[in-house]
Amino acid sequence: MSKVKNMMKKSRKLKDTTNQNPKSQQAKINKTTKKKKKLTATSNNSKQQSNKKRKIKRIPKSKDKQKTKNSTKNNKSKGKKKSNKEKENYEQKKNNHQMIPENTEEKQQQQAKMGKMWKLSDFEIGRPLGRGKFGNVYLAREKKSKYIVALKVLFKKELQKGGVEHQLRREIEIQSRLRHPNVLRLFGYFYDENRIFLILEYAGKGELYKKLCKLGHFDEKTCSQYISSLASALSYCHSKHVIHRDIKPENILISINGDLKIADFGWSVHAPNSRRNTMCGTLDYLPPEMILGKAHDQNVDLWSLGVLLYEFLVGTPPFETEGHQETYRKIVKTDFVIPEYISSGAKDLIKKLLLKDPKKRISLELLQQHPWILKYNSSNNEN
Ligand code: AMP
Repeated sequence: MSKVKNMMKKSRKLKDTTNQNPKSQQAKINKTTKKKKKLTATSNNSKQQSNKKRKIKRIPKSKDKQKTKNSTKNNKSKGKKKSNKEKENYEQKKNNHQMIPENTEEKQQQQAKMGKMWKLSDFEIGRPLGRGKFGNVYLAREKKSKYIVALKVLFKKELQKGGVEHQLRREIEIQSRLRHPNVLRLFGYFYDENRIFLILEYAGKGELYKKLCKLGHFDEKTCSQYISSLASALSYCHSKHVIHRDIKPENILISINGDLKIADFGWSVHAPNSRRNTMCGTLDYLPPEMILGKAHDQNVDLWSLGVLLYEFLVGTPPFETEGHQETYRKIVKTDFVIPEYISSGAKDLIKKLLLKDPKKRISLELLQQHPWILKYNSSNNEN
């Protein structure tokens, strides 16, 4: 347990995490604690209730829709108390609390132990940060280390209703292993009878989508810098054989010092060898190969990056239409128009990402060398 907290302390010191202002956060937490705001198992309104969300139609993913048998039962049995000796053995074994070993048996043991390492009373709960489909997110502070985190509270019943337990398990497994300044950290998780709690890095400036809605679009310098940092994060994910598959503004958060953080690995997969052919993701960001039901690989994230770049610059995604069928048609035909006012450099990069043939899309390495990226990201450049 203490190692976990030390790790959290250490990562606080690193600039790439949240760079938060503990005093102001502490004030917010104290204020909310005074109000004795309780985390109650109230039923959740879905994301659609929030008018900040665009009308997203997710493509149901049959495999993920299958309910995972007895997950609640298993979780309950994992939650039984372990002896001090077991705790010590575990402390000796692990050199990093978040790393889940490859070995399945050991992984299960470690996950069970990780699950009981944290409990709600280890945290002071602050103001709500947002509401998701399966639960709410709160600002929280780990009592001993005073480390500020975002605590995502997911209701088991809601997860079961949505048939997404499998997806959540995969999300935890994948996200907890990733370490990159532009990937949101998942420090750990725990659960009680009704809820699952995810301990997440706190992103002080909230959702990128909100910022985009507020500003309409971003200037070219900001877009170039955002795309470069996201490409760097995706490069890292791909090097770990992780494909995100759901890159869009809603899944990107902003840290207190303005760094982008890719979050929501719910649709991500480990792709060690085989190419995948599962249909998932959000309509506007779906690449042609996924619409056509073809096998797909990490190049799907390059397409999404192209859609993202377009939306950052223009304010709307390139294939947006009233109906699904028309959007599908436009994506498959790569039928999009870039407005005149976009610079030739940005246009060129969009065209190199939004290519129907996944293999022809510009690689993430070459993207970083693209003149329009270099123009705004070179350290010598004053732009
Ligand atoms: P989600 O359930 O992940 O969609 O989260 C619901 C909302 O909570 C988001 O729209 C964000 O506004 C907020 N939120 C989620 N995670 C974090 C985080 N790590 N830091 C700050 N705000 C967050």
